[in-house]
Amino acid sequence: MLGLGLLMGCAPSADPKDIDRSGKIHVLATTSLAADLAQAVLPDVFQVEGLMGPGTDPHLYKSTQGDLTALRRADALVHTGLQLEGKLGQIFEKQRSDKPVCRLSDGLDSTSLIKSSGFADGYDPHFWMDPRLWMSAAVQLSADFQKAYPQHAQDIEAAFRRYKAELDVLDGEVEQAVAQLPDSARWIVTTHDAFNYFGRRYGMQVRSLQGFSTAADFGVKDVRDLVDFVIAHKIAAVFVENIVSSRSLDAVVEGCKSKGFMLNLGPSLYTDALGPTGGEADTYLKMIRVNTRSIVQSLQSPPLES
Ligand SMILES: [Zn+2]
Repeated sequence: MLGLGLLMGCAPSADPKDIDRSGKIHVLATTSLAADLAQAVLPDVFQVEGLMGPGTDPHLYKSTQGDLTALRRADALVHTGLQLEGKLGQIFEKQRSDKPVCRLSDGLDSTSLIKSSGFADGYDPHFWMDPRLWMSAAVQLSADFQKAYPQHAQDIEAAFRRYKAELDVLDGEVEQAVAQLPDSARWIVTTHDAFNYFGRRYGMQVRSLQGFSTAADFGVKDVRDLVDFVIAHKIAAVFVENIVSSRSLDAVVEGCKSKGFMLNLGPSLYTDALGPTGGEADTYLKMIRVNTRSIVQSLQSPPLES
């Protein structure tokens, strides 16, 4: 025994993260949204961590050596799919022979997806913007984890049902809020196209400066086209996003101003990531509520023309 003790004493000291006496099952998710869903649907015996922090843009995310270590250590993995996380999604998929891997988009029927030539999968990945599709992702997560951890199946099912009820309430709230806007005011103009699913669900039209991905470039012509578009449709406000620099839409606001159209720059919307912990949008439910409030309030005031 003494020999073994000495031997262990000589071993390189282990990272405290390696030692878990709590008996928790460690779940690693890619985005802050995927982590939030796992947190909501899984009971307390699961400890969920997200690789990408609040405000991180998943389209441009480059994984680090530390991420790969976290991935190897985790007991189970969750990612969004539809190429949102690019290479990282492929790395997660490769772990299937070692541990449970949940791809949230597997819960969606392809007929419910919006086609987009901008992505390798051919579909727009921002499906969480429709709470009913996020519910389908929750169904997938619940089913995958109940199968992988049958000893916790009952608790997972109970947590899932509680969350499902919250998503139902949220969906009804957004529908009612958007209904306050006249049809002509129902425009969401942003930096990148994250709102197609939201627009389809709640009857709003969508237009963006950069297209589907934040990786896409935009130029002077894109700005000029958007200025003309905003003026032609008398759109009251445009919105920056928490994952994209606000400068991109400043040129559009300036361009409108030079033509005598006072376009408002609305509050920053939360798109592909949650806001900081403890803030107004640190969960999915809060994020959709805050976005809805910002959109409806900003579009209610008619644009000023000088
Ligand atoms: Zn995006």
